[in-house]
Amino acid sequence: MVSAFQSPLTAAVIKAKAREFGVDLVGIADGAVLEENTPPDFPKKPSDITEHDAGRVIILGKRYASGTTRIKRWDERHKYYNDELTLTMLEEASLNLVYWLEDEGYPGIIIPPTHVDPWAYQNDPDEHLTTLLSLNHAAVEAGLGTLGLNLQLLTPEFGPRVMLTAVMCSVDCETDSPMTEALCKGPECGRCLSTCPGDVVGHWTRDWAACDRYRSPHGFAQLTDHLENIFDESDSDKKLDLVRSEESFNLWQSILRGSGVVTGCRRCQDVCPVGEDYARLLEDALHVIPEDTPDKQARLTAMVDAESNQNMPAEFSANRRWIGPVDDK
Ligand code: SF4
Ligand code: SF4
Repeated sequence: MVSAFQSPLTAAVIKAKAREFGVDLVGIADGAVLEENTPPDFPKKPSDITEHDAGRVIILGKRYASGTTRIKRWDERHKYYNDELTLTMLEEASLNLVYWLEDEGYPGIIIPPTHVDPWAYQNDPDEHLTTLLSLNHAAVEAGLGTLGLNLQLLTPEFGPRVMLTAVMCSVDCETDSPMTEALCKGPECGRCLSTCPGDVVGHWTRDWAACDRYRSPHGFAQLTDHLENIFDESDSDKKLDLVRSEESFNLWQSILRGSGVVTGCRRCQDVCPVGEDYARLLEDALHVIPEDTPDKQARLTAMVDAESNQNMPAEFSANRRWIGPVDDK
């Protein structure tokens, strides 16, 4: 019996240990609640990953470095590299927590933000593939925040400017509950839509496949496009130019470190005014949104009008549990 070798652990002790390993945010969701509440477009449940060690889903968050957030260009490679380092640190903290839990007698397993379901791939690089569990939705269940207009996770401390991982483990400790107020200011704010370079943000939704081209600019879709262009080029000089192009260089660098593949555009996270860090570290550099257009403003006005007439989109209803209680809608 594994239980004979287990030390009793409280949620407070687990959270203190996670912070000691370097994470900024930690919350603990009840695995049974995640089993019963699968988010839209995420058919997998914790028990599909492991039938043994999914009693608790510990969500860990690490904030982005603010210096790169203050850079306005979405495709700035310093942002990709800095974010990749943040992810590396978060992954190491997750692994440290797993080994510590194991020492206390509890086997654990990491759910990283970069691992998509390989069985879902259908030979289409442009298809959006989800992670095995939605870490954003799980973070809401763990009391860390609520979802915003484009379904990004917003936290009181850092708004959406956090990376997440999860550690699953069947430790019998207290769990957290979702927040009782929605953090998103809705289309009246709409800054995530105004800034989006791909214009993929909708009314409590986003076009995830189109977003992927920005979130992962040198990822698998660009790699296959580039290889196809090289194969299709009949002129041998032009073919060589393509092989030696900046596109090849960016892909090579990204394959080397993951920067521009597991990291990329996060403009919607940068400009969101939610979070204690916004006024303190970001507002002076990010208040003006150069990508805004009259057309985007007109769409936001239409959303505000629809909401004032209680005409909420289906995407809002589908995600209402995680957007949070918006009493007047
Ligand atoms: S990550 Fe970039 S492309 Fe995707 S929704 Fe945010 S701003 Fe738009
Ligand atoms: S930018 Fe505004 S509308 Fe978008 S998620 Fe943040 S608070 Fe909500």
